Amino acid sequence: MVHDVIQELEELYAELPTINCKGLCWNSCGPIDLSDAERQRIVDLGVDIPVFTEDRARRWANDEKGELYCPALSFGAHEGGMGCTAYEARPMICRLWGLSEGDMSCPHGCEPSTRLTPAEVYRFIGRSFKIGGHGDVDVDRGLDVLEALMSDPDQAEIVTRFMGGDHSVAAELRTAVENHRRA
Ligand code: SF4
Ligand code: SF4
Repeated sequence: MVHDVIQELEELYAELPTINCKGLCWNSCGPIDLSDAERQRIVDLGVDIPVFTEDRARRWANDEKGELYCPALSFGAHEGGMGCTAYEARPMICRLWGLSEGDMSCPHGCEPSTRLTPAEVYRFIGRSFKIGGHGDVDVDRGLDVLEALMSDPDQAEIVTRFMGGDHSVAAELRTAVENHRRA
């Protein structure tokens, strides 16, 4: 069963554009949100990734990094330098890094075979949560809300900014989601 879930996740990862990675951006490896199955896969390798919280993300964005670096990072894991010890099992969010427009584009100039839009990035994340589970979150409902928000240019901009790390729009985004749920 667990094996089937990993297989499904691998099939989803295979849908992603490819990128010629230089493995240089370990300093972007901070708080990440991942599905339950992806977390367990990394736990099985001996690394426990802390649960993602808005507070951790905010502190990371405010440059209070310190202990917020991902525990899968290790010196010597990539060509003698810092790298991911769980690279083959890294979750969707890490595989998306460098593939998107804007703030998730590669800071070292690696070019993906196709560049994803923020909406496509969210859909991939949502689909990974759907396959791997994500606590008691209703992922289907979340994907529906995402589709609705992304179809409205004003709300799409809020989602895109939040996804790019602009936490000043968190309250606006929460309101937009609540309004959609009430509608
Ligand atoms: S952003 Fe992605 S593609 Fe670019 S160096 Fe870092 S891991 Fe590689
Ligand atoms: S799992 Fe690996 S690639 Fe992902 S954030 Fe942690 S160290 Fe970086």
